[in-house]
Amino acid sequence: MILKQIKELKTFLDTPKRVVIVGHRNPDGDAMGATLGLFHYLKKKGHKPTVVVPNEYPKFLHWLPGSKKTFRFDWQNSQSQKAIKNSDIIFLLDFNALHRVGHDMQSTLEKYQNDFALIDHHQEPDEFAYMYSDTEMCSTCQMIYHFIEKMGDIHLLDSDIASCLYTGIMTDTGSFRFRSTTSLTHKVIAHLIDNGAENHRIHSNVYDSSSFGRLQLLGQALSNLKVLPEYKTAYITLTEDEKEANNFVKGDTEGIVNYALSVEGVILAAIFIEDKEQQIIKISFRSKGTFSVNKFARKHFNGGGHDNASGGKSDLSMDETLIKFCDLLEDNKEQLIHSYDS
Ligand code: 5GP
Ligand code: MN
Repeated sequence: MILKQIKELKTFLDTPKRVVIVGHRNPDGDAMGATLGLFHYLKKKGHKPTVVVPNEYPKFLHWLPGSKKTFRFDWQNSQSQKAIKNSDIIFLLDFNALHRVGHDMQSTLEKYQNDFALIDHHQEPDEFAYMYSDTEMCSTCQMIYHFIEKMGDIHLLDSDIASCLYTGIMTDTGSFRFRSTTSLTHKVIAHLIDNGAENHRIHSNVYDSSSFGRLQLLGQALSNLKVLPEYKTAYITLTEDEKEANNFVKGDTEGIVNYALSVEGVILAAIFIEDKEQQIIKISFRSKGTFSVNKFARKHFNGGGHDNASGGKSDLSMDETLIKFCDLLEDNKEQLIHSYDS
């Protein structure tokens, strides 16, 4: 059966189904919020949903309702494989191509025989059976809200669903301040609060849970900040030694790139983080105005994302990566200088 339209999906989900829900590798607030939000909704509808998370997610998301029921593909591999194999449908949330779940899990998903349903806000998604793709949306969590609306079930919102969706909208919009935040986003948020999302508590759970080490690492990152006014660019580096010296744990570098973007006049920001385990330099890009870091990351750093927030990687050393980056700044000087439109 090919489920292309929401009508077909709705009919399919009229009877209880085994559903697997997957987010991208290195899950963030939006991926975790969306997968768990959909999990609670489908459970309430009488289905048997299982969230399969590719790998570790940050500690500041462990409080999310339902997170303890998720399977980690890297840890609980046989349970995860079994859940995937036996499912009637798989939802792919907050990513646009199967390789974004990581190598091993990608191979498993590629063997899957039934339909995939994609709900995502990244650009240029691959083709799956059911596609709800909207690159204007601030977050996949807002799309899950609209998906539940499309299913005619918005009355089923409860505090678990609302808390999960609130979290992803909050983290993907930088607490409701990025350009993608619309009046509709605020209406959705208001409805989520009315249905049990405790906004002050969620902010505190996510943002007020820094370890001493994370703050020390932030200090290191800020002292590594370089500003290149001639390119309206600022960047930060973090080496493996610096991470180790500050007891780095996953999630500690989340959001640090935004400090580089907050420098007056800067429209392009990057953070380069050495990852010994994967033998890469992991990069996050942020921009303001018309300079597309999605295109930049796709073209030069084997990555992608959104126009103003993207990521990628480099197989070169840190020094070589920085030389490549600076050469690219020179090549893109005109676009950088003229990007800032506000
Ligand atoms: P972050 O910098 O917060 O990790 O990611 C910013 C955005 O870029 C997110 O939407 C994320 O999905 C996307 N992104 C990050 N890294 C990669 C990557 O290596 N490849 C692709 N295609 N997208 C990425
Ligand atoms: Mn997202």
